[in-house]
Amino acid sequence: MNEIIIPSEKIPVTEECDICVIGGSCTGVFAAIRAARLGAKVVIVEKQNRFGGVATSSLVNMWHSLYDTDYKEQIIAGLTLETMERLAKRNAVAPFMNSKVYGIPLNSEELTIELDEMALEAGVKIHFHTFFSSAVMEGGKMSAVIIQDKTGRKAISAKMFIDASGDADLCVSSGLGTYIPEHIQPPTTCAKFSAWDFGDINPYELIMEHAEEYGLPEGILWGAFVPPHNDVYMLNGTRVKGKNPADADALTYCEIEGRRQLRAITDIFRKNLKGRTPQLNALPSYIGIRESRHIHSLYHLKGEDILNGKKFDDAIANGTYPVDIHHQEKGGITFRYLDGRERYSRPGKKAVESRWREEHPDNPKFYQIPLRSLIPVKSKNVICAGRMLDADKEAFAAARVMVNLNQTGEAAGVAAYIALQENIEITKVCHEKVRKILKDGASCIMDL
Ligand SMILES: Cc1cc2nc3c(=O)[nH]c(=O)nc-3n(C[C@H](O)[C@H](O)[C@H](O)COP(=O)(O)OP(=O)(O)OC[C@H]3O[C@@H](n4cnc5c(N)ncnc54)[C@H](O)[C@@H]3O)c2cc1C
Repeated sequence: MNEIIIPSEKIPVTEECDICVIGGSCTGVFAAIRAARLGAKVVIVEKQNRFGGVATSSLVNMWHSLYDTDYKEQIIAGLTLETMERLAKRNAVAPFMNSKVYGIPLNSEELTIELDEMALEAGVKIHFHTFFSSAVMEGGKMSAVIIQDKTGRKAISAKMFIDASGDADLCVSSGLGTYIPEHIQPPTTCAKFSAWDFGDINPYELIMEHAEEYGLPEGILWGAFVPPHNDVYMLNGTRVKGKNPADADALTYCEIEGRRQLRAITDIFRKNLKGRTPQLNALPSYIGIRESRHIHSLYHLKGEDILNGKKFDDAIANGTYPVDIHHQEKGGITFRYLDGRERYSRPGKKAVESRWREEHPDNPKFYQIPLRSLIPVKSKNVICAGRMLDADKEAFAAARVMVNLNQTGEAAGVAAYIALQENIEITKVCHEKVRKILKDGASCIMDL
């Protein structure tokens, strides 16, 4: 049997709303909250049992500095700051105000619950355990999405749609152009460990010493204790190379291979450490996906824009996180900083320092992401947010962190709301209005 023909099917429209968001990481949730706070009727569809995406379901518990590279001017605020302030009240995030630290660990479980509360407070209608399956198009415009949940197949009709699925599932289904880059940043299965105490031994050197024997590729090894206490450690230490996570079979392979690598790491500990060894304490509900599809948008963000701190009239996000390329063809990570430094870092080895450009006195203090990089070419009523943004290898390698993508979510929510209010296509939304509403909503939108 090569094919099955499914008889035409009547699908009930169970919900009608103004804006439908697909995907509920902080990106999608912040899009939904922004639009709902402005008065839109918003529905959000999330395939997991929780919000937060990679930050919760994949255990990646590290946000970054809200300040410029000098740690003087605050350049990120909005819902990112609001969420961190709420987490701080629960002792669930490391200090972040006036802090000169660029990595800020948080507690993923507390974040999960905080996001529930924030979405409910804003009046967002939530669908967990619900898979977006396809888009319904009428006259070149999206009119509904088909979803699948426990009770069956349903349709949600909306006037505007936000693709925050990470993999651009909504865009693919609606025929909006996407591409898979030649170099995909490889996925990683993170894990939580208890009893993470190695005395004088360097755990990363220990792992790398035995990596070949246990079939571990040289990749990345870092982690962070989960606040508020130092008794659970989140390890980011596997790397599955050469696969496209937007391919179903490849994704299955990645999950199994990521877990195999984690077991290899725990076996290295068991075999080589005496006494109480670090214990595998929790696995993610899915592998952390760094990159898959990107959209063809109105502006392809380039590495030179980021590294030279280009300022855009339609800037909707600020960031300082360096270009951070996780290699496919070799181990380690290459960082490129706004001050011209370059650093090639390999697990358990001394980093190699160099420069990607000569020193000069006027280093940019932050970079920006333009609204156009979120708007698919030929889109009428779909806007994107998150890692699918249109960017080259270097630009993506910096833009991809959560404090940056959170801001793209907020901007997508505001832009969708304006398009709705003015009954215009998303490409026609005035960026000055988006920026003004973002600023009024406490985002750090700089006057250019
Ligand atoms: C291992 C790893 C380590 C990282 N380290 C850091 C770090 O330290 N700090 C940092 O800031 N960033 C880090 N990043 C990058 C950052 O986490 C991601 O770029 C970011 O989370 C992407 O956000 P997103 O909203 O675009 O996608 P995601 O977080 O992937 O969210 C997509 C959401 O959409 C849902 N979804 C997908 N498809 C469907 C569907 N068909 N139907 C319904 N729902 C759907 C998913 O369940 C998910 O909730 C890391 C990434 C990885 C993978």
